[in-house]
Amino acid sequence: MAFSFTHISEEKRLKIRFAREMEFFLARRNKGIPLVHDVRRRASVKDIIESFGVPHTEIMAIGFNGVPVDFSFVPGHGGELVVAAVEPPFDVTADHLLRPALKQVKFIADLNVLKLGRYLLLLGFDVSLARQLTDGEIAAAAGKERRIVLTRDTRLLYRKKIEFARRIRASQPMVQLKETLEFFGLIPDPGLFFTRCTACNLVLTPVAKADIDLRLEPKTRKYFNHFLTCPGCDQIFWRGSHYEAVQSRFRAAGIF
Ligand SMILES: [Zn+2]
Repeated sequence: MAFSFTHISEEKRLKIRFAREMEFFLARRNKGIPLVHDVRRRASVKDIIESFGVPHTEIMAIGFNGVPVDFSFVPGHGGELVVAAVEPPFDVTADHLLRPALKQVKFIADLNVLKLGRYLLLLGFDVSLARQLTDGEIAAAAGKERRIVLTRDTRLLYRKKIEFARRIRASQPMVQLKETLEFFGLIPDPGLFFTRCTACNLVLTPVAKADIDLRLEPKTRKYFNHFLTCPGCDQIFWRGSHYEAVQSRFRAAGIF
C-alpha cells in the first residue's frame, strides 16, 4: 500500500528504503521510487514492511532514523526506515538482532519445493517434508522445531512464527539446491550423503545382511554386502546404481 506524498504531513511521513535485493518482492509500481507510509495508521514495522510485499524473513536489520529497531517497533512519527536484506552467506547459527540463533541447521520444505527437500535429505541434511501440511501447520512446525522454511510461496513467509526462511528464486530443483547451499553458506559433507531416509527424514541404521536376506532381490544379494534400514518405514537402502547416479548428478552440478 503506497500512499501519495501530497496528503501526508511531513512529521507523519515515514519514508522507506528497501535494499536492492528486496525489489524482487515489490509491486512493479513501487520499484525504484521512494515509498511512504503514513504513521497515523498505527502499525509495527513488520506489518508496514510486509504491506509492501517484503516478508520479514528476508530482513537482516531495520533502522528507524538511524536507530536499530525490531519487528514489533511502532513508529510514532515520520522519518526514514531503512530495511537491510539478509545476504549470503547467512549464518543462522550466529545471533542477530532480529532473531535468536538456531542451534542446528534444520529445514522444512514446502510442497512447491519437495524435490529440493529430497536433494537436501540425500545430502544428509535434516529436512521435514511438508507434504500434507497447511500454511498454518508449516509455520507452527517451523516455530516449534526451529526449522528454516524453504518455499516459493511468498505469502507463507508473512507468518510471524516463521523466523528463518528462504523464498526460493530458482525454478529448477538442482539450481534451487545450489541457491539454498550458497544462501546459507552450507558445504555438504560427502560422508553424510545417503545417511537419511528421503521419505521419513530419519537417520538410517546399518543392518546385517543376514537379517534382511530374504527381502533382497537375487542380484542385490549377490553384488552388495552393506545395507541400511530406516527405523521409520523399514525400507532397505544400499549403495547401488541409484546411489551412483545421484552422486554423479550432484558432482556434475558442482554440489560436491
Ligand atoms: Zn523411512
